[in-house]
Amino acid sequence: MSLPGLPRDDKGRLESYAFPGGYQLYYYDKQHSVLCPPCARKSDEDTDETPMFKPAFVGVNYEDSELYCQQCYKRIPSAYCEDNATDPDTYKEV
Ligand SMILES: [Zn+2]
Repeated sequence: MSLPGLPRDDKGRLESYAFPGGYQLYYYDKQHSVLCPPCARKSDEDTDETPMFKPAFVGVNYEDSELYCQQCYKRIPSAYCEDNATDPDTYKEV
């Protein structure tokens, strides 16, 4: 089942960055838990995942430098407030 409205690449996987613009995306589920793109993808592609915990909404992180994934607790970088792109707390693309 696909969720209309979520940005996906040509393989149907959830995108990490907005197009156009390249802004950092994050996802959240129906309980408004924030998910980084890798966790959102994992949840999205897990057929056993509880529907309530699947990514249902997408947001662009423009300037929240304290936005953390509630699944893996990694930081989700913002489009405008990045001072250190190699911050070890920041989530990693897989
Ligand atoms: Zn995560």
